Amino acid sequence: MAMNNYDVMVIGAGAIGSSVAYHLAKKGYKTALVEKGDLASGTSSHCDAVALICDKDPGIDTQMGYSSIERYLELQEELSYDFEFHQRGCLYVCETEPEMEAAKQYVDAQVADGYDMRMLDTKEIFEMEPNLARDLIGGFWSDPDCSMNPYKLCYAYADAGKRLGMDVLTHHEVKGITLENGKVAALVTDQGTYKTERIINCAGVWAPFIGQMVGIDIPIKPRKGIVMISERGVPIVNQKIQEFGYMMSKFEDLNFTRNVSERVERNNVAMVIEPTDASNVLIGGNRDFHGYNIDSEIEVMQAVAERAIRFFPILKDINCIRTYSGLRPWVVDHLPIVSEVDGIPGFYIAAGHEGDGISLSAITGKMVSQLVAGEETDFDISKLNFRRFQQA
Ligand SMILES: Cc1cc2nc3c(=O)[nH]c(=O)nc-3n(C[C@H](O)[C@H](O)[C@H](O)COP(=O)(O)OP(=O)(O)OC[C@H]3O[C@@H](n4cnc5c(N)ncnc54)[C@H](O)[C@@H]3O)c2cc1C
Repeated sequence: MAMNNYDVMVIGAGAIGSSVAYHLAKKGYKTALVEKGDLASGTSSHCDAVALICDKDPGIDTQMGYSSIERYLELQEELSYDFEFHQRGCLYVCETEPEMEAAKQYVDAQVADGYDMRMLDTKEIFEMEPNLARDLIGGFWSDPDCSMNPYKLCYAYADAGKRLGMDVLTHHEVKGITLENGKVAALVTDQGTYKTERIINCAGVWAPFIGQMVGIDIPIKPRKGIVMISERGVPIVNQKIQEFGYMMSKFEDLNFTRNVSERVERNNVAMVIEPTDASNVLIGGNRDFHGYNIDSEIEVMQAVAERAIRFFPILKDINCIRTYSGLRPWVVDHLPIVSEVDGIPGFYIAAGHEGDGISLSAITGKMVSQLVAGEETDFDISKLNFRRFQQA
């Protein structure tokens, strides 16, 4: 027997689903956010915490990242729950001349598109970050970049959504979707069935299982990554810092080689580090495909620690208090899927944000609410349409 009726039901209370649900509730839709566990129990509590434009490809990827930061600047006023948002910028550091040349090309392209980035010489990077290894040769600075607490972000959206009348149905596992005449008609959970004409699949790496419920194949794969957390209280960095090799690791640039150990190479490790409000540092990172397993392997920790100490020798004397691993929802073209699905009226996907789901949560929520309302989105998002995989 069907229980409540909802205008829209959003599956998955991670950074994407909770933003999507909040933005829909804000538009006046009777909305339910449906989650099999607790809020933020998936990747959004097993990740780092930054919203960057300087880790995005020039073009729509960066445009989404920048628009999301603009939306975050509004949200930090709009949401009453403090999600530890800061606009601190981001520093990239380079080890070699070829890296500096590649960095310069990247910065030139982004500056030509109007973004605030600039190259830095050796002296400037050490003035900014005195703990950096002394043999680094420079880097670049990206001014708009931000950080936050992703776990609190999900609670902030849910809290604001509830004030607008949104229902948050945690511990409700989606088991099926009922179609009538090919259109979305109901959502079946282990706690009951709900009538609705619109469902948004925001289940991150689990989005393909929801897709199977309506007979479609969503090509998202879990791409694992580890985070190591330092003991508190020793100031090490002032904001997010990444080695330039991070770009190669993320975008699988095989034409670029780094002078790294076999262990670092084998585990696709690139140094990233950022401070938290609780005065730890989060240290990463690696990218690998290991199915849905989120164990933290010793060899990966060793490789991440090795790479971090290479850039920050001070870390040799700092303890690591714990680690966790998470699963990035990876899509082959590194763009998320954000659209209604052709042939299944009322079924939408907002998933596949890989390493950018925290960064893109604010703009994704806004875009989906615009799509559902039949409004024009702020910019052309046809490249994000699921159609690109249906035609293949
Ligand atoms: C190590 C690491 C570091 C990262 N660092 C950053 C970063 O600094 N910045 C950034 O932007 N991104 C980062 N990311 C990526 C980011 O974490 C993800 O893109 C983002 O968390 C994905 O959010 P999501 O809401 O799509 O998925 P999730 O957070 O996984 O949410 C999906 C939810 O769906 C629920 N669900 C699944 N199946 C069902 C079902 N049948 N019924 C009900 N609920 C269901 C799950 O329980 C889960 O809570 C990082 C990722 C990793 C792994």
